[in-house]
Amino acid sequence: MHSARSSFLTFALLSIIALAGAQAPAMGQDITSLEMLSEMAAESPKTSAEINKMPAKKLFGRQKAPADLKARAIGSYAKGCLAGAKAIPVTGEAWQVMRLSRNRMWGHPQLISLVEDLARKSKAAGEWNGLLIGDISQPRGGPMLTGHASHQIGLDADVWLTPMPARVLTAKERANISATVMTKNRLEINPKVWTENHMKLIRRAAKYDQVARIFVHPPIKAELCKWAKGDRSWLAKVRPIYGHNYHFHIRMKCPAGLAGCKNQWTPNPKDGTGCGDELAYWMSEVPWKPKKPDPKPNPNKPKPKPPPPLTLSGLPAECRAVIAAP
Ligand SMILES: [Zn+2]
Repeated sequence: MHSARSSFLTFALLSIIALAGAQAPAMGQDITSLEMLSEMAAESPKTSAEINKMPAKKLFGRQKAPADLKARAIGSYAKGCLAGAKAIPVTGEAWQVMRLSRNRMWGHPQLISLVEDLARKSKAAGEWNGLLIGDISQPRGGPMLTGHASHQIGLDADVWLTPMPARVLTAKERANISATVMTKNRLEINPKVWTENHMKLIRRAAKYDQVARIFVHPPIKAELCKWAKGDRSWLAKVRPIYGHNYHFHIRMKCPAGLAGCKNQWTPNPKDGTGCGDELAYWMSEVPWKPKKPDPKPNPNKPKPKPPPPLTLSGLPAECRAVIAAP
């Protein structure tokens, strides 16, 4: 049984998290009080039966520290967890982490090195002042209360397309600044904010061997296709998908020799770049259209029940040890 007070706190916490997920522009939230709220609201499961019943997103969403185990990405990008995670320093020599209260700056150590390397090299080349880092993963990965389906195994990182200012942002700014949207609509880039350096940054990220995919909004892929000269094979990894007009998403391959980490299929568009049919599909109406309602609905047909929430048993068995670890 919950007391009314703890249900209220849970509600308050969930509302704050939901707002943060929606990138609400001006929430003057204080990180310390959010932490306190989350401390009080987090239900502590006492028995393994309680842990088994708890939705996995709640169980992983309440983890504050990584599992003290050997670093492992366990499962697949959208169904798994993370052991031995490393946090990227919130202020690096060529990057800053945004939305600190979300505590999603954790990744497999090899992903963290890759993001840091990308930041340093693009800065050294004079192409990009520094990365503003969005979500990576939770301290023990797993499903999240808000936001992504993926980012569960510490191999996905979101990087804002907003250039980093030449100063250290305060925690409050990192909570409140809105990311710059790079598109005018679903077909057109906004030339007032989009630059060649954006393209150099995305190309540099895609060219890492360990990078499996980069997700961008369709008109961003279209710009890259128009711009890229010479070796265009890296474009195959840059995948158009909605929801990526203010950030791009770096997805790393499973680190070599890591048992239990599942790679996705390798993008292999017929034209070698995905700039033909694949892009044309994303620039068409088709993927954006809402599904048509059934013209002759059967009134006796029972409403489909929402699937029960994913619990620990729906994740790879090793994720139990990740939760149980100190
Ligand atoms: Zn992402």
